[in-house]
Amino acid sequence: MHSFHYSNGGLHCEDVPLSDLVSEHGTPLYVYSAATFRDRFTKLDSAFSEIDHEVAYAVKANSNLSVLRLLARLGSGFDIVSGGELYRVIKAGGDPSKCTFAGVGKTRAEIEYVLKEGIYSINVESEEEAAFINKVAGELGLIAPIAFRVNPNVDAKTHKYISTGKSENKFGIDFELIAAAYERASKLPNLQLKGLQMHIGSQLTSVAPFVEAVEKVAPLAADLKRQYGIEFFSIGGGIGIIYEDALASGKESWWTEQPEETRPLTPECYASAILPTLQPLGLKILLEPGRFIAGNAGVLLTECLYEKKGSSKTFKIVDSGMHHLIRPALYEGHHEIVPLKESSGETEQVDVVGPICESGDFFCQNRELPRFMPGETIALMSAGAYGMVMATTYNSHPLPAEILVDGAEARVVRKRQSFADLIEAEEV
Ligand SMILES: *Cc1c(COP(=O)(O)O)cnc(C)c1O
Repeated sequence: MHSFHYSNGGLHCEDVPLSDLVSEHGTPLYVYSAATFRDRFTKLDSAFSEIDHEVAYAVKANSNLSVLRLLARLGSGFDIVSGGELYRVIKAGGDPSKCTFAGVGKTRAEIEYVLKEGIYSINVESEEEAAFINKVAGELGLIAPIAFRVNPNVDAKTHKYISTGKSENKFGIDFELIAAAYERASKLPNLQLKGLQMHIGSQLTSVAPFVEAVEKVAPLAADLKRQYGIEFFSIGGGIGIIYEDALASGKESWWTEQPEETRPLTPECYASAILPTLQPLGLKILLEPGRFIAGNAGVLLTECLYEKKGSSKTFKIVDSGMHHLIRPALYEGHHEIVPLKESSGETEQVDVVGPICESGDFFCQNRELPRFMPGETIALMSAGAYGMVMATTYNSHPLPAEILVDGAEARVVRKRQSFADLIEAEEV
């Protein structure tokens, strides 16, 4: 469920017509719905209410300060993957003692920073990293709370670039080697073995890989609790969202209309499939959703500049592209495209492309879309996660503005870059 819908012939975010935002702030423009963020967080949080748990939002999905502030106020923890992300969380009013620090390439400066700020746990990706954290913590006179990331060697059945839980991926420690890693780390004086972590991939649309991974790793978590007194088991993020039918899925009724076999993953079905295995562990369960919370909570608005009819194709050239939303170019990501003005039903087959000098700069190819013309604005749905956070100024296009809508109110939460901002850190 999300809060983007047509009303009076125009696309709205909650109570705000998106065309009003375009008139006032121009395009390209990211627009987020506060109600959708709240709905997603709360639904997932309550699905696990039977057990001791914490939702640690994966900051990398959307790290705007106002988004982090909104989630911090709901009591969210945060999963960070860099020192910069912890800095953002703290600036937004988040609590470092509810943060976990993941990632395969942590630097000394980052380790020192998160330890001094009192991080809940550093999630460690190799024994070499554990030894290094022990050394850094020793020099600071601190004990570093850690968890190892286990790679359960489970096929997440998602795009190869966002699959992380197979033994050929760079992430985590092989399932067969993990017990020995804990054994050796338990002898290091400046480490506290606090938990166990895994994350098998992103945009998982069925519950089966989660169940397989949880059932495979739960006995290990139980052993580690017995041997070393670990207190948490993080089952990672990865819950998928709706991309293909994004607009329709905003309505509660869409979900019940889906045939049972193909019904998308909901927090309730995710929780009910794994709770029976998790509950007996008596551990605190950490969830690290990014996309699930942010994905359907945002859209990218872009204006059509030109229509170019070639001998084999019609191109709609828009004022945004891969520099603002790279998912189609990076991993064949699909975003539903709808005009702000409700369509009369007429469609045409087009490529929607951006201004960047790369053939990979497209939002869709050969797709049947509601007809729209130069001067009109379209919305790329489901752009709230892995959108603005991956935006660049390639070809020296300034970054878009970001707006957070809450009911009838709309606030600029990141102002549009100017040409001067583009060169601000450079010298002649
Ligand atoms: C990226 C990431 C997440 C979030 O993944 P989503 O698919 O956005 O839910 C969670 N945990 C870790 C360790 C990650 O790297």
